[in-house]
Amino acid sequence: MIVSIDRKKVKHLKDCIFCKIVRNEIPSYTIYEDDVVKAFLDISQGTPGHTLVIPKKHIANIFEYDPELAAAVFSRIPKIARAVKDSNPDIKGMNILNNNGQVAYQSVFHSHFHLVPRYTNHDDFS
Ligand code: ADP
Repeated sequence: MIVSIDRKKVKHLKDCIFCKIVRNEIPSYTIYEDDVVKAFLDISQGTPGHTLVIPKKHIANIFEYDPELAAAVFSRIPKIARAVKDSNPDIKGMNILNNNGQVAYQSVFHSHFHLVPRYTNHDDFS
């Protein structure tokens, strides 16, 4: 099957900041990586340990997942969440957040899941 090349999409793949992190073209504090996902510290730490989990494949948001990729990505999140929690005994809980679309406060259009550790003494994250 031959598909036509969408030049806008190609340019987006080249420019996407999280694709650049996947390709190690820009630095990240990576805490986990396999063939499907990469997990790295968010540059603006909502709370200490704030981590992003992204699929290595570029998809914009939840609306573009097929069931196989969703299963592969989602199945990895608990293990990564536990690793973040185990990294600091002060972490008592965690918010897992996912913004989809500009109106839902998504600012980077490569799907990602925020793992935001919660501490009894860090209650100012909203
Ligand atoms: P919001 O900016 O409203 O949180 P998103 O859910 O799209 O929207 O989150 C994008 C996240 O990506 C932000 O928390 C931001 O700090 C983070 N981010 C942007 N650039 C980088 C980077 N180079 N390395 C790590 N995190 C980044």
